[in-house]
Amino acid sequence: MDAPQSWEKRAETYSLYGFTDLPSVAERGTVVVTHGEGPYIVDTNGRRYLDANSGLWNMVAGFDHRGLIDAAKAQYERFPGYHAFFGRMSDQTVMLSEKLVEVSPFARGKVFYTNSGSEANDTMVKMLWFLHRAEGKPERRKILTRWNAYHGVTAVSASMTGKPYNEVFGLPLPGFIHLTCPHFWRYGEPGETEAEFVARLGRELEDVIAREGADTIAGFFAEPVMGAGGVIPPAKGYFQTVQPILKRHGIPLIADEVITGFGRTGSTWGCQTYDFTPDAIISSKNLTAGFFPMGAVILGPELSDRMDAAIAAIEEFPHGFTASGHPVGCAIALKAIDVVMNEGLAQRVIDGAPRMEAGLRAIMQRHANIGELRGIGYMWALEAVRDRETKQPFEASLSVSERIANASTDEGLICRPLGQSIVLCPPFILTDAQMDEMFEKLDRALTRVFAEVG
Ligand SMILES: *Cc1c(COP(=O)(O)O)cnc(C)c1O
Repeated sequence: MDAPQSWEKRAETYSLYGFTDLPSVAERGTVVVTHGEGPYIVDTNGRRYLDANSGLWNMVAGFDHRGLIDAAKAQYERFPGYHAFFGRMSDQTVMLSEKLVEVSPFARGKVFYTNSGSEANDTMVKMLWFLHRAEGKPERRKILTRWNAYHGVTAVSASMTGKPYNEVFGLPLPGFIHLTCPHFWRYGEPGETEAEFVARLGRELEDVIAREGADTIAGFFAEPVMGAGGVIPPAKGYFQTVQPILKRHGIPLIADEVITGFGRTGSTWGCQTYDFTPDAIISSKNLTAGFFPMGAVILGPELSDRMDAAIAAIEEFPHGFTASGHPVGCAIALKAIDVVMNEGLAQRVIDGAPRMEAGLRAIMQRHANIGELRGIGYMWALEAVRDRETKQPFEASLSVSERIANASTDEGLICRPLGQSIVLCPPFILTDAQMDEMFEKLDRALTRVFAEVG
């Protein structure tokens, strides 16, 4: 009989990998994970890794939170699945919508559920198309986003995403327009101040609206802090500059808070951290602390009213996913919101953020090849450069950030390479000792890689 195949071999034979650097896998194999303990994951070889990326930003309460597991179990016992079509929905769905509006920055509003962040963005675009048509403006269909934005992977949300890799799909679709990324360190011109940079981005937005015609634009989507674009907080005053322009042209501003929602930046919402009120919020990831796939569109008062009127005219909004508002997902989300907001997790981000920044600042000081440290709350990036003065990047062929991530994995630390940056967005439950462990492991990984390529 053949020897039993390894987990790695089985994974590689039957699974098609997404967003994976295949040369790294060919060289290093697949990490097959069996379970987690607090902020750690454990693989089939019994190796433990501190996951400084909270899974994919979402496992903010760690990988074995008892309260969340119990909430899921209890709801599975009670009512394990239902939809939200035909005027029926579960009691958990009713309660979650109420809760989401209560914790939103809106005085009132309405919620629609999806299974993911991509679908929530997709749904929001369909809502805008539906709404503008119903209001007699069917030509208002173009969507404005920014380069380096990440809004998901469905055909529409990938078109909103401002990443070159979508060219392999022939995306973006027509009518998706990308504006300059508000990253001053990288895109500021020589001699330009941050205020001048933001003013330039404001003029660009005005110019694009003038060129395309305001009456052809359906909405503007923005992450308060760009996540998968490399953790990019907006240049100072960015939202205060773009929002009045959008308002003047009747273009709704949608905050994609899939990462920044529920505490990641030190406030419940990223828009609160950056002091603006959008017309709608997209939520997912932390919404269930990663314990269930779920996304939500949260409409503010004006869009709720306009949607209500548009729907009333045809007596139905013909949209929804089979598992929209799934009772188990809703029960978990209710518990996750309670855990994050009322059991001290959000507070831990507020208390721990200065320590996190100081630790990473100290690492930057020890490594001349770190060009920028940027972030807020519990989302940070260190950008590797050949030369800190000139900001000259490393040659792409060196795959520096991949190497750092791989060296970190060898140290028992999971962190993510994004462009030339390394991203750290740990679970909110991280203790001070675990934070120090993260710093020490990262420091060793950086020392090793910069010795090789520096
Ligand atoms: C992850 C992410 C999405 C997509 O969410 P999925 O659940 O992966 O579809 C959308 N927007 C932002 C800001 C994200 O970080």
